[in-house]
Amino acid sequence: MSASIFEKHSHNDGSWLPRPAGAETEVLACLPEALRRRTAPKLPTVSELDVVRHFTTLSQKNFCIDTNFYPLGSCTMKYNPKVLDAIAASTAFSQIHPYQDEEQVQGALKVLYEMQKLLSEITGMDEFTLQPAAGAHGEFCGLLITSAYHKSRGVTKRKVLIPDSAHGTNPASAALCGYEVVQIKTDVRGLVDRADLEAKLDDDVACLMMTNPSTLGLFEEEILEIARAVHAKGGLLYYDGANMNALVGICRPGDMGFDIVHLNLHKTFAVPHGSGGPGSGPVGVKKDLIPHLPRPRVLKKGGAYAFEKDAPASIGKLRTYYGNFGAVIRSYAYILALGAEGLEGIARNAILNANYLKEKLKDIFELPYPGPCMHEFVASARSQKAKGVRALDIAKRLLDHGVHAPTVYFPLIVEEAMMIEPTETESKETLDRFVEILRSIQQEIDQDPQKVLEAPHTTPVSRMDEVRAARQPDLRLR
Ligand SMILES: *Cc1c(COP(=O)(O)O)cnc(C)c1O
Repeated sequence: MSASIFEKHSHNDGSWLPRPAGAETEVLACLPEALRRRTAPKLPTVSELDVVRHFTTLSQKNFCIDTNFYPLGSCTMKYNPKVLDAIAASTAFSQIHPYQDEEQVQGALKVLYEMQKLLSEITGMDEFTLQPAAGAHGEFCGLLITSAYHKSRGVTKRKVLIPDSAHGTNPASAALCGYEVVQIKTDVRGLVDRADLEAKLDDDVACLMMTNPSTLGLFEEEILEIARAVHAKGGLLYYDGANMNALVGICRPGDMGFDIVHLNLHKTFAVPHGSGGPGSGPVGVKKDLIPHLPRPRVLKKGGAYAFEKDAPASIGKLRTYYGNFGAVIRSYAYILALGAEGLEGIARNAILNANYLKEKLKDIFELPYPGPCMHEFVASARSQKAKGVRALDIAKRLLDHGVHAPTVYFPLIVEEAMMIEPTETESKETLDRFVEILRSIQQEIDQDPQKVLEAPHTTPVSRMDEVRAARQPDLRLR
């Protein structure tokens, strides 16, 4: 290269790349004198390569679905196709603002409108809101709607019935809305105890919250009779749809008699999750409850899409703007890409994978409910506990094999519970490997239990004091 090329391009500081003219002084000019630094900050001087290595290494200390099997029951940690991220990141969606005029963002409004319709069709409900930011937020929304509905009819009902196998967010949401939570027992089949329900179902029951299939992975066979009984007392039936990957395309909560449904787009409809979001928990309702949905929804008038302006009986706005738009786009694209047949494939594969694993593991673990399961099943480490090794120890030992632990000690009604959900996206090879790993751990329990009791041996951090970690988090940089 000739010297003249260097001269022509180099700047005062010796760099070659052109710098934006005046940008630094412009920013500085906005800062009041008193807020400006007197001395330069003491930043570490490291090369770009060192920075890249540091953050890449940190990223590898994380566990994620893109690297390993993640059978965390009830959480549906399935693979989310990357093309969905690309679609959500396209400038058509990422460069618009919720405060833009409606006529400038007709495409975005169309996505929201069609999503309301698609989810209504998938669940058998009459209308949907996309506002809630997660499953628990959807429950909160659904219970506010329940309350508004009863109030509009001039009745006050104080109780919400919830089976003892329910996710902890159910009673938390009901309590948050001011309801008294009444627990319903599970019977020997793992289903709602009809006699207990009968005894507790009275005129004071605002709604029964049900998860179907339940967190035990079992389909509530008497759901039609249960719905009839609740409606006969003037109560509503709420569907926790976080487990919808077990049913989607096969049957619909709306046809089972449910009045309110929440879905977890971040579980069933391929939005990446874990470590706290952003998720999306749309809520669907039957016709009589539509006036109480959060506002605004997107309506279609003539050929144009617009936000609803007039909704006097609405419970109001639940969050800023119109929901987690990026999550909705991913799920919208996922649903359109799969179509009706593909959606049914989700449920069929989820059920097949779970039953395959359950059958393969039944000689290692006790199964409190040994019959066919839906998308997940609950095993018990009771016989392992008798040998001194608990579900928690098995969960920790799995980490050494690069497998995420199942959900443990939930649902609460199963002793030493291990709730296993392989999800629909895993191959037979992965499931077989998981079975082999659990067999090898069982062998250790019989021959060298210390190995399991002291696990994990290979992770960046070994056993933690989990109670203290939650109560006194140490967030200092080291
Ligand atoms: C995950 C889950 C929830 C809560 O959903 P979040 O998005 O975590 O708030 C509720 N019920 C069931 C059955 C779940 O699995």
